[in-house]
Amino acid sequence: MSMLANSTRAWGSPSRYIQGRYELERIREHTEIYGKRVFFLIDVFFFERLKEKLQRLYAEGGSQVQYEQFGGQCTEEEILRCTDAAKELRPDVVVGIGGGKTMDTAKAVADNYSAAVVIVPTTASTDAPAMGLSVVYTAAGEHIGARHYKKNPDLVLLDTEILAKAPVRFLVAGMGDALSTYPECRANLQSSSPNYVNSGYHQTIAGLAISRACHETILSKGVNAKLAAEIGLCTKDVEDVIEANTLLSGLGVQNTSCAGAHSIAEGITVLPPCAKLLHGEVVAFGVLVQLIVEGAPTDEIDELYDFFRQVGLPTTFESLGIPDATDADIMKVAEASMHSYWDVEPFAVTPRMVFDGLMMANAIGKRHR
Ligand SMILES: [Zn+2]
Repeated sequence: MSMLANSTRAWGSPSRYIQGRYELERIREHTEIYGKRVFFLIDVFFFERLKEKLQRLYAEGGSQVQYEQFGGQCTEEEILRCTDAAKELRPDVVVGIGGGKTMDTAKAVADNYSAAVVIVPTTASTDAPAMGLSVVYTAAGEHIGARHYKKNPDLVLLDTEILAKAPVRFLVAGMGDALSTYPECRANLQSSSPNYVNSGYHQTIAGLAISRACHETILSKGVNAKLAAEIGLCTKDVEDVIEANTLLSGLGVQNTSCAGAHSIAEGITVLPPCAKLLHGEVVAFGVLVQLIVEGAPTDEIDELYDFFRQVGLPTTFESLGIPDATDADIMKVAEASMHSYWDVEPFAVTPRMVFDGLMMANAIGKRHR
């Protein structure tokens, strides 16, 4: 347990969040608020197509615009390369369009110029867009740490037409990440552990309310949102799930912190097949383990198994790609997970308890299939 010594509460969030269909068409209007020198960092997958579109959108208005293709990994070298590329322009605003690594690199470049940062995610798969930090890797993809910034993004802009057309696996993974928000919030609340606002404070009422709303939205809208997204539709359910995956989940994690579910997600990557899964997929399994370790009510646990089955989130070792995992493998995961956030649970957690939780999560999953 890492109980706080005083009662100060705190809140952090992006300055603006705008979500809607075809909202990228209005990007010039959105960036002009922050200045006329605009630096775009764009994922390789979208680069050519988007550059053409953006050139058309910025044909008028007198902004000076530069387009840079993201190199693929958020490393110190890539941050330096992009910062250097923007030297002549000296951007007022840096826009990152793409996945988590593109966004994180854009945040770092913006910070280097004290510029505004606009984040445009192309999937609704994680809570990262709203956060004021970048996760930095080596060129080989090894995680080496995080850069924390004095502010969250100035604007998180979501074009739901793009998000609804992305592979549906991303939307479902985002639901898995979002479903960790409330159980993790609750564990931190019970143990009076610090949130991720600056050096860490107590949660606000807002943090708890948003975490609950995140949970309820995913459970009530998730199944139909997946159905709609599978056929490329952008219904109100899809919009609601995108908001829960991105805004509610992001505000939740920063303001109420991680716990057991994210510990499992980090620990389980010691088994190579699991390292290939999407973040939200392993977090989802972690939620099941956390609730089992906590001894949560059976109804609460069964509700999640039922939901996971309907949307296709992992509930067994087989669905995690480790059908032949041995006891030793699972113990390795349990031990690795101890380096993360189990210490915020309101009771002492041991590797043996986590091992039991992992085995039981798999056993219940097999029964539910
Ligand atoms: Zn997460």
